[in-house]
Amino acid sequence: MNKKIFGKPIITQEAVQKRIKELGSNITRDYAGQELYLIGVLKGAFAFYADLARVISLPVRVGFILASSYQGATHSSGKVKILSDIVDDIKGKNVLLVEDIVDSGLTLQFLNKTLKAKKPKSLKVCVLLNKTEGRQVDVDLDYIGFEIPDKYIVGYGLDYDNKYRNLPYLAILENIHE
Ligand code: 5GP
Repeated sequence: MNKKIFGKPIITQEAVQKRIKELGSNITRDYAGQELYLIGVLKGAFAFYADLARVISLPVRVGFILASSYQGATHSSGKVKILSDIVDDIKGKNVLLVEDIVDSGLTLQFLNKTLKAKKPKSLKVCVLLNKTEGRQVDVDLDYIGFEIPDKYIVGYGLDYDNKYRNLPYLAILENIHE
């Protein structure tokens, strides 16, 4: 039987927290004197989003988009669906999109297009994990937590089949044969 398990942490809880503080400082510096609308992409970004929001020292408004994920698979189908959109008007606002991970770039490309149509003043992207090897389309990333190899990651918000999101660290999901 083929079973999926998670192995050793690829990024520890301490390393994640340290890097998020650095990202928060950079964002606070770059948007000094301005307001920021933080949009989290659910479900995967929930842990990263909550920690990041609390280390940004600016007037921050919060909003969320629920986008479809790989739904039980470990590779992108290329089809992205918005299951629940943001409820506030972002026209004329500085928007920072907070994503858990960018792989093919298809999800982000789609979300960027959708959000730009709402005419924000600015739109930037902050991503915890960047898997460049899987890239299929060009996307601009303004803030990156970690560059990672082309492995399937779980923990700290990231799932396999909607499980493991509550792990406090990031781990590689592995196949084992029983
Ligand atoms: P992309 O459209 O860039 O291929 O993938 C983006 C989305 O796919 C992420 O928001 C995430 O939901 C999912 N994803 C991509 N790579 C991984 C991974 O290694 N682990 C998990 N859990 N989800 C991933």
